[in-house]
Amino acid sequence: MTPVFGESGISPVSLKTLVRGGTIVSMDPGIGVLEGDVLVSGGVVEAVGPGLDPGPPPARVIDATGMLVIPGLIQTHVHLVQTLFRGAADDMDLLEWLRGRIWPLEGAMDEASTRASARLGLAELIASGTTTILDMGSVNHTGALFEEAGAAGIRATIGKLMMDAGQGVPFGLREKTADSLAAATGLIEKHNNSHGGRIRVAFAPRFALSCTEDLLREAAALARRHNVVFTTHASENPTETHIVREQRGVENVTYLIELGAAGPNVFLAHCIWLTAHDMRLLRETGTRVVHCPSANLKLGSGVAKVPELKAAGINVTLGADGAPCNNNLDAWHEMRLAALLHKPRVGVTAMNARTVFAMATSDAAEALGMPGQIGCLRPGARADLVLVREDGPHCRPGGDVFGRLVYAHRASDVYLTMCDGRVVYQDGDWKTLDMPRVMRDAMREFARISEKVK
Ligand SMILES: [Zn+2]
Repeated sequence: MTPVFGESGISPVSLKTLVRGGTIVSMDPGIGVLEGDVLVSGGVVEAVGPGLDPGPPPARVIDATGMLVIPGLIQTHVHLVQTLFRGAADDMDLLEWLRGRIWPLEGAMDEASTRASARLGLAELIASGTTTILDMGSVNHTGALFEEAGAAGIRATIGKLMMDAGQGVPFGLREKTADSLAAATGLIEKHNNSHGGRIRVAFAPRFALSCTEDLLREAAALARRHNVVFTTHASENPTETHIVREQRGVENVTYLIELGAAGPNVFLAHCIWLTAHDMRLLRETGTRVVHCPSANLKLGSGVAKVPELKAAGINVTLGADGAPCNNNLDAWHEMRLAALLHKPRVGVTAMNARTVFAMATSDAAEALGMPGQIGCLRPGARADLVLVREDGPHCRPGGDVFGRLVYAHRASDVYLTMCDGRVVYQDGDWKTLDMPRVMRDAMREFARISEKVK
């Protein structure tokens, strides 16, 4: 269905692309939702509106009749390095899950398995309409993640995962503080703003329990100095939060913020167990919070007070977290859960569908310092867009477009994913990944890693 014309022999980015005849959910306040076309040129949205004429040179035309055309979805907390561990650590509590399964497996990863894990995760993300991720990265072989994300065509900010302390940290993951900081700084020099600005580098200390105070403080200072993202986990689990309180004499989020891990470039994942003081500091510093509802439920961690955080003016965005605590990397699941989870406690309107769809698009773009460039379809924005089929019985008869997107649609409705003007997935065809090889490598590499941690 829905043929694409004129692809052969012409660079997909230099070619103009006309996405014709869809329902455009622009997430731009001046454009809104309209029936029309999106004209893409050189990786940028040139025009949005009805009856667009691409003019010369010849354009590739994508027929979007009967489909929604939405901005590419944005997830601000994922772990590509963990994709191979999907199904390897079900029904466990956070600290048991980390110490008993995830850290030994991560510690056993080498470059080949890191690449296989990243490709599997990237394939899932691209095919389900996620075009931008903030990834926690890996302790070792992090360069491979940048290369794989770059080659797959996704937009990615990827952290150097840092661990220099803590109980249960295996030998292969425990770093010297200075070495960890030097490695992260080296990654900035090599990879930040590579692939035309599509790939960026972040500092990603794992969490307070596996990092020294020196590492956290210095990583936050370096992130500010280099104007890059700092991201970590915070106040995810009651035991974790209790240990931080016992060891540091202060609440987890307050501890991080007082160390300097605060401000618009800082993303704290989870933030479930917060005090009123923590919340006040988050608001006053403009620090970002990432809501990961599937992972929080599966690890039994708790439910973040997202409506209260949002009402306080804190930008809260969404993430699937890692494959072994979800077990999907599916932004549609996260949107649906984020909308449903809080209703019994705070009422049915607080997390309405429009609000939640913004968390996965325009709000996340603002948080990542790219408002108007991603997370929306408007002239001048990067051409990150997704075509969503509406021909399944679960989509009919319809209703409000945001209700359809958040409550009814699913990952398998994604027909086409474009990132930076390049079609990376269409109708079961991954344009940048050799899928038989991705699947084969994932199975082989997981078997090999499992042998090592026996
Ligand atoms: Zn995580």
